[in-house]
Amino acid sequence: MPKEEKYAIGIDLGGTSIKLGIVSDSGRTHKKIKISTEAEKGPKKVIENIKTGIRELYKNSKYKIEGIGIGCPGVVTPGKGIVENPPNLPGWEKVNVGRLIYHEFEKEVYVDNDANAAAIGELTFGSGKRYRSFIMITLGTGVGGGVVMDKKIYHGDYGAAGEIGHISINYKGPKCNCGSYGCIEAYAGNQYLRQRVRRQLKKHPESKLWKLIDDDLSKVSPRKIQTAAEMGDKFGQSVIEELGLHLGSAFTSLVNVLDISVFIIGGGIAGFGNPLFASIEKTLRARVMAPISPRVKVLPARLKNDAGIKGASALVFHHT
Ligand SMILES: [Zn+2]
Repeated sequence: MPKEEKYAIGIDLGGTSIKLGIVSDSGRTHKKIKISTEAEKGPKKVIENIKTGIRELYKNSKYKIEGIGIGCPGVVTPGKGIVENPPNLPGWEKVNVGRLIYHEFEKEVYVDNDANAAAIGELTFGSGKRYRSFIMITLGTGVGGGVVMDKKIYHGDYGAAGEIGHISINYKGPKCNCGSYGCIEAYAGNQYLRQRVRRQLKKHPESKLWKLIDDDLSKVSPRKIQTAAEMGDKFGQSVIEELGLHLGSAFTSLVNVLDISVFIIGGGIAGFGNPLFASIEKTLRARVMAPISPRVKVLPARLKNDAGIKGASALVFHHT
């Protein structure tokens, strides 16, 4: 008899939209919807919107749901579903999302930080399946991180662990949003990267990037940098190479401290693809303690579309 599939609801709570879907334990999304978060109206309204989305998924649904998984920004208290001060969600100090959702639907609710959910998604359905331990990095507006040790997320004492974006690679470096200096996010976060490239590009009048942005510096984007690099533009290639050097330097410290040698990279900027992965790997191999060097691996994340929904649903499957 074929194995019966299990189903969970995965919810990706973001500052502008809430994405919800029904996902099977084989990692397929069966039904999905997207609604506005209305973050400015405060936590009560946001919770109400999440519930409306769940009701919508349940409507005419033939799937037996095992549980509900939610990926949220901010610090999530391990095992309790309490979300603390999420950035982009004003008015939240501490909200017990898990309990509020459980009340209406009476299904187990698993809540974790969105970067941790992405890591569990890769562990359950993606590139992390074959590994006991790995580090997941999401390169986007910010730089998110999740540490998987022995097939489990390492949460730390209060649920705040895994902030790889805030490893400093230069104590005199640019000021980061978090208050520190020279954090990886202040080099690799989308806005910071654009800013730096705009500054550097002025010294490279020969770059093909100028044509791609119609000589308008406000049009600099990771996608345009990638296109220039693919056209053989030396400046575009050097931006990607340098980013790999920055990330690889930070990851070197992680490898030396944790003896975890597999890195999985997702998010929009991971679209730089092989040249970025090769530069990170080259930096790591040259810098980590010699015995670990041959084991270092840098892999692209496998979950692309619906990664947030799938990662959140994986929080359920990972427990069942
Ligand atoms: Zn920082």
